[in-house]
Amino acid sequence: MPLAKMTQNLSIELNLLRRRAAYICVLVIILVFTAELILEKYFKEADYQNKQLQVTQQLTGLTSKLSGLINSNLFLLSGLSAHIGMKPDITQAEFEAYASSIFRQEPLLVNMAAARDLVITHIYPLKQNLAALGLNYRLTEKQWNAVKILDTRGEMVVAGPLDMVQGGEAIIGRVTVFTADDKFWGITSAPILTRKLYQAAGLLQDNLTIEVAIRGKDGRGINGEVFYGNATLFTDQRSITTTLDVGTTGSWQLAAQPRDGWQDASGTIWLLRISFIILALLLTIIVSYRYRQFYNEKNFRQTLQKNQALLEEVSKIALVGGWQITPEKRTFRFTLWNEQTAKIFGLQTDSQHPLTEEVLCQFDKPQANHLRSCITNATLGHTFDTELQVSAKSDRWIRIIGKPIANTEPPFSVLGSVQDITERKRFTDKIQHQAIYDQLTGLPNRLLFNNRLKKSIVKCRRENKKLAVLFIDLDHFKPVNDNLGHSAGDFLLKEVGNRIRNCIRESDTVARYSGDEFIVILNDIKETKIPVSISQNIIDSISKTFTINKNKVYCGASIGISVFPDDGDSVEELVSNADQAMYEVKRSGRNGWQFFTKAMQVVSEKRHLLRNKLVTAVHNNEFSVVYQPIVDLTDNKIKKCEALVRWQHNGQFIPTDEFISLAEETGRINEIDRFVLKTASEHISSLSKTYSYPIELSINVSPRVFSSKDNALDQWLTILSRASEHMAITVEITERLLIEESDRIMWVLTKLKALGIAIAIDDFGTGYSSLSYLTKFPIDIIKIDQSFVRKLGEEPVPEALIETMITLSHKLDLEIVAEGIETLEQLTMLKKWNCDYGQGYYFDKPLSAVDFEQRIHRTLVDDQ
Ligand code: C2E
Ligand code: CA
Ligand code: CA
Repeated sequence: MPLAKMTQNLSIELNLLRRRAAYICVLVIILVFTAELILEKYFKEADYQNKQLQVTQQLTGLTSKLSGLINSNLFLLSGLSAHIGMKPDITQAEFEAYASSIFRQEPLLVNMAAARDLVITHIYPLKQNLAALGLNYRLTEKQWNAVKILDTRGEMVVAGPLDMVQGGEAIIGRVTVFTADDKFWGITSAPILTRKLYQAAGLLQDNLTIEVAIRGKDGRGINGEVFYGNATLFTDQRSITTTLDVGTTGSWQLAAQPRDGWQDASGTIWLLRISFIILALLLTIIVSYRYRQFYNEKNFRQTLQKNQALLEEVSKIALVGGWQITPEKRTFRFTLWNEQTAKIFGLQTDSQHPLTEEVLCQFDKPQANHLRSCITNATLGHTFDTELQVSAKSDRWIRIIGKPIANTEPPFSVLGSVQDITERKRFTDKIQHQAIYDQLTGLPNRLLFNNRLKKSIVKCRRENKKLAVLFIDLDHFKPVNDNLGHSAGDFLLKEVGNRIRNCIRESDTVARYSGDEFIVILNDIKETKIPVSISQNIIDSISKTFTINKNKVYCGASIGISVFPDDGDSVEELVSNADQAMYEVKRSGRNGWQFFTKAMQVVSEKRHLLRNKLVTAVHNNEFSVVYQPIVDLTDNKIKKCEALVRWQHNGQFIPTDEFISLAEETGRINEIDRFVLKTASEHISSLSKTYSYPIELSINVSPRVFSSKDNALDQWLTILSRASEHMAITVEITERLLIEESDRIMWVLTKLKALGIAIAIDDFGTGYSSLSYLTKFPIDIIKIDQSFVRKLGEEPVPEALIETMITLSHKLDLEIVAEGIETLEQLTMLKKWNCDYGQGYYFDKPLSAVDFEQRIHRTLVDDQ
C-alpha cells in the first residue's frame, strides 16, 4: 500500500478507535447511573416502608396508652356515678370519703365533682374548688353545650381539651347519674390534665422518634379541631393515623410522621451515590486505559507497517534490497528478503525460502563461485562487500554486502544488502574516462600520455630499444578559432587528431597535450628516419585542406622530435626537449620538423639562467628607461615619446624581447611596468615643465596586469591616475588583450578613458584580423606594426594594406602612428597617405633620459 494511503488509513482507524472508546465510556456511565438510580429507588422504598412500620408501631403504642389512661380514669368516674345512683342523697362528707379513696390511687384526675340536677353540689377536694360549688350548668352556656347532650344512662362524654379556671389544660370526662329507679340524678365530672396525660402516655418523651398530632376536640373524631401537634400532619397523605375512642361516643384521631422526615435514608443513599460515582470513574479509567493500550498497540503496529513500507519504498528509490540467508546442510536458503531483493536477484515473490542456488545460477560461473565463497565465509564470521557483473554478456552490475549475525555458534545466518549499481558503474567509468581522455578529440589526455610514456620508457630501457616523442603545435590555428568560431576550431582539432592517428601505428600513442598541441609516442624506433618520415607524413596530412562549414581552411604543423635515450630518459625531459625543438621550428618559419639538439639545450639553459637573474633585477636597480620620440608627420615635431625598458646585467644589455617574455612567464612584468611608468612619468613631467613643451607619454603594459590575482592592477591604476594629472598619457595595449573581451578589461579601459588617458593598439595588424573591437572598445590610437612599414617599397601588398589601415582609422576617428620608420622612402609614402605620427630609427633610436632631454633641447633651439 502506498505510504500516503497508509498514513491516511492509520489516522482514520485511530479516529474510529477513539470514537468507539468515547461511546463505551458514555455507555458505562449511563449503565452505572441507571443501576444506581434503581438501587436508590429500592433503598428509598425499603426505608420508607421501614419508617412506616416504625411510626405505626410507636403510634399504636401511644394510642393504646392514651386510650388506657383515659378510660381507666373515666372508669373511676363511672364508679362514682354508680355509687351516687345507689345513694342519691349522698352527703358532702360521704362524697369526699368516696372520692378521696379514688384519689389515693393517684389518678390523672384534677378533681371530681357531682352536679345534682346539673348544679354542682359535691366537689373533691373541696378546699381548692369551693368556687365551683353551686355552678349551674344550665346557666353556663359553655358548660351547658357539653352537658345537654348527656341524657342516656351510663353515658360517658369527654369534652375538651380546654383551659381550666384553675390554670392548665384538661379534658373533662362527664358521666350521667341515674338513680336506682331510673331517674336522672345529674352528672359527675372530672378533668384530666392533658399535660399529665400526654406525659404518662409517653407523648412528651425526648427520645420519641415520631412527631404526633391529635385532633377530635370534644371527642368529635376527624371532625374535631387539632389540639396537639402540627395540624399539617393531617393534610400530609403519608402520615400514619390511628383512632382512639374517648368516652362512650367520642373519638380522637392521631396522626404521625417520623420526626426526621421520611427521607432519612440519605446517609445510605449518599454512600450509594458516591460508590457508584467511584465505580463509574473506575470503569471509565479502565475503559480509557484499555483504549490507550489498544491505541498504542495499533499505533505501534501501524508505525511498524509504515516503517516497513517506507523502507520498501526507500529501497526502491535507492535500488537497495535487504535479505537474510540461513545456512542449511551444504546449502543456503533465503529466509528473509524484500521486494527490491527479489527484483534484483530475480526471485519469485511467491516462492518459499528459495535456495541461494536459484540466484547463483543467474551469474557467470566465476562470479557465482565468488559469491558462493563470500557467503560461505560470511557464515563463518567474515563480512563481505563485493561488486559483481551479473554476466559478461550484460552490463548489469550489482553490489552485495553481507554481515554474519554472530549471536549463535557458526555457521551463522548472514544479513545483507544488494544494490543495482549499473548506473553508478557507468558513471564512474565515464568519469574515469573523462579523467584520462580528452573530451573533444577522444584522444588520451596529458595524464594518460605521461603514464604511457613512462611505461614505454621502462619497456625500452629493459629491452634496449629507442622511442621518439613528437611535439606537434598547429600553425595558424588561432585565426580559425577567432574568425570561424569555437565550434569550427573544435572541429579542426578533432580532424587534426584523426589525421595524426592515421599517420601512426596502432601501438603508438597520440594525445592532445593542450590547446592546439598534440604529442605522439613512437615506440620501438629502429632507425632515425622513422620519426622523420612519420613527422613529414603528419605535416603533409595536416597541410591538406580542411572543409569546415563549406569554408576551406588551411593549417600547418610544427613538430619537435626528441628521442629516448639520446635526448633524455624521463618523461619531463623528453617532452620538454621535443617542445624546444618545436619552438625552434616555429622560429625558423613553421610547418616543418626538427630534432632536438644540444644547441637548443644551451638556449634553454640560458633562459633558465636569465629567469633566475630576473628575480633580483628589480631590487638591484638593473632596469632603466629609454624614450623614443614620436614625431608629428605634418610638421615633423616631436609631440610624444614611447617609454621602453632596458635591462643591464653585469654591464651587458639583455635583449628586451627575451626578458619581457620571461618576465611575463614569471609574473615579474607587473613590477617592471610599474617601475617604467613611475620613472617615465616623473621624467617627462619635469621635462615638459622645464622646457614648457608638453610631451605626451606613451607607455607599454603587459596583458598580465589585467588578469593578475593580487592587487597589481590597483597599484598600476593608482600610479597611472596620479601621473595623468600632470601630463597626457597613452597606454599601449595589444590586440591579444581585446580578443578576450572580458568585462574586467572593458572596465579598466573605461576607467582609463575617464581619467583622460588615451588607449593605443600596439603592433596593429599582426595576428588578429578581427577589427570589430575597434568600435567595441574605447580606442584612440592605432600603431601600425613595424613589420608592415619595413616592407614598404619592397612588396605591393603592405602598401595597400597600410593605406587601407590609415583610411579606415581616419574614418573611425582614430589617430594612426607608424612604427619602425627607417628610411625616407617609407616616411614619404606614409606622409602621402596622411599618416598622423611616425616613430623609428629614421627619426631617433630609443634615447636615454639625458639624451632625450638634449634632443628636446636641441629641437627647441633649432626651432628658434
Ligand atoms: P614595441 O612596443 O613594439 O616597441 C617598439 C620596439 O621597436 C622597441 O623595441 C624599439 O626599440 C623598436 N624600434 C623602434 N623603432 C625601430 C626601428 O626603426 N627599427 C627597428 N628594427 N626597431 C625599432 P624594444 O625596446 O626592444 O622593445 C621590444 C618590445 O618589448 C616592445 O615592442 C614592447 O612590446 C616590449 N616592451 C618594451 N618596453 C616595455 C615595457 O616597459 N613594458 C612592457 N610590458 N613591454 C615593453
Ligand atoms: Ca609599444
Ligand atoms: Ca610596437
